[in-house]
Amino acid sequence: MIDLFSDTQTRPTPSMREAMARAQVGDEQSNSDPTTNALCERVAAMLGQEAAVFMPSGTMCNLASILVHCRAGDEIIVDDQSHIYNTEAAGAAAIGGVSVKALPTRVGLFSLAQVEAAIRVPQRTAPRSRLVSIEQTTSFSGGTVWDIGEMRLIRDYAQARGLKAHIDGARLLNAVVATGLSAAEYAAGFDSAWIDLSKGLGCPVGAVLCGTRDFIEQAWQWKYRLGGAMRQSGVLAAAGLYALDHHMTQLAEDNANAGRLHRLIADAPGLAFDPTAGQSNILCFTVDGLCITASTFANACLEEGVRVRAIGTHQIRATANLDVDRAGIDRAAEVIRAKAAAFAAMAE
Ligand SMILES: *Cc1c(COP(=O)(O)O)cnc(C)c1O
Repeated sequence: MIDLFSDTQTRPTPSMREAMARAQVGDEQSNSDPTTNALCERVAAMLGQEAAVFMPSGTMCNLASILVHCRAGDEIIVDDQSHIYNTEAAGAAAIGGVSVKALPTRVGLFSLAQVEAAIRVPQRTAPRSRLVSIEQTTSFSGGTVWDIGEMRLIRDYAQARGLKAHIDGARLLNAVVATGLSAAEYAAGFDSAWIDLSKGLGCPVGAVLCGTRDFIEQAWQWKYRLGGAMRQSGVLAAAGLYALDHHMTQLAEDNANAGRLHRLIADAPGLAFDPTAGQSNILCFTVDGLCITASTFANACLEEGVRVRAIGTHQIRATANLDVDRAGIDRAAEVIRAKAAAFAAMAE
């Protein structure tokens, strides 16, 4: 099986498991787990932030950030393809009483003009605009890489109007290896930013949230309240440290593999790609031209041992990851091309 469903499917490698088994541990809740502390220091330094907290998931990083930055009745601004808006079970609303303004986007990128229009004039009748979140790279809209200049314009504009600026950096490191810009350059000046360990980095669990010392102290309290505080979390943090040492080159390979897949299937009949397709490890395309739904297409590929993900009615997402090598990509391309050709013939 060639599994391009998601980079969350990656399994810890034997060497990562060894690193986990050897981890020195203590009690995370009292800051005395040395491996977790080392991971937090390492990621805070990488992102150029004062402090960090180890979280069980990226979802909790987003939620804790929203809960620190906002109070009930506030509104946050995100893109309409974002993880916060679509796949966090409305945590901001359910737990924080925070409403979400989702800006219409094509590939997850919104403009400064959209942010300008979205920030509300303070008045009795309006929710208070409080946070802008940028997803780097975009997840459900094809791994598009945000331009750093655009990110900074939006950050500065928002902060000048009293809003906080947040980076959902589930795949920030894919952007780092794609552009050569550092994580610190991307995160500079943002009020909160995080990276996921359980996506392309291949860890079984975890994410690291960064910000000022004061922000992290408050995020820690939410983590505790939400039931996210751990004990001997060094076993998990060791996987993160191992991944940062050994899997950064893997992210570059994943990006290259998604780009290769794009090149190999770009002219397949009935498939349509956005001009931004193939910038990092995620490749999205539509099957509009084939008169079938995305799930029909995905099932047909699965029968040939290639797993891709149907997102919405017509969109397919394929995500390169450490369990699929170049030969696997070539085989996936072959299957996708063959299926596209077969459906195109039937549609005629
Ligand atoms: C996966 C993902 C998350 C959530 O991370 P988990 O660790 O799965 O909870 C948040 N944002 C984006 C963009 C993601 O891709």
